[in-house]
Amino acid sequence: MTTDPLRLVVFDCDGTLVDSQHAIAHCMDHAFAQHGLDCPGLENTRTIIGLSLPEAITKLAAPNRIDNALIEAVTAAYKTAFFTLRQTPDFYEPLFPGVRELLAELDRRQWLSGVATGKARRGLDAVLARNELEGRFVTLQTCDNHPSKPNPAMLMAALDETGVDAPNAVIVGDTSYDIEMGRAAGMIAIGVDWGYHDVETLHASGAHAVISHFDDLPDILDKIWEDDRDAA
Ligand SMILES: [Mg+2]
Repeated sequence: MTTDPLRLVVFDCDGTLVDSQHAIAHCMDHAFAQHGLDCPGLENTRTIIGLSLPEAITKLAAPNRIDNALIEAVTAAYKTAFFTLRQTPDFYEPLFPGVRELLAELDRRQWLSGVATGKARRGLDAVLARNELEGRFVTLQTCDNHPSKPNPAMLMAALDETGVDAPNAVIVGDTSYDIEMGRAAGMIAIGVDWGYHDVETLHASGAHAVISHFDDLPDILDKIWEDDRDAA
């Protein structure tokens, strides 16, 4: 009797599981303004969501040529702004459609689920708690102890923690940072079209497929693995 290998699906958070763009852009503008810098605005901020904060802020501030001390100060201002915003009663960061159903289906098919995010663990825990998703993921990788995406360190840690081999693991994300990270880790990389980078960018960065709804994911994964088995 043969046993099916362990399989793991790792999700990005912002732009993939939750729609956090407005909260992030609001706090980014606040942090930049507090330090006398031009506010980047929603359109620019959308392009950097997924990176860790210092990398994101460096990219957004590039025209201003800010130094490391100012990057640290803006990072701290952003964290304070987000922490404060999260405490307000009308704070809203909705789950994208189909998340709960998908996680149940992955459980049913005996696939493990995890998260890899440029958020800090404190922020990720808050998202999971607000949406009653605590305990639904077997591995949680955050920027606290890893370099920013697209460095594959977060995914290597997820594989290590779960004992899954890279070819049996998938990253699902909305940006080129996720796709490049997944490819660098030797995993299957699936883009989602409801997030913050456009579909062309996801394909150009090496996505094996781009989905338009979480309902489509289980069958796409089954097909990829069947094709793999046929090719072996
Ligand atoms: Mg994202």
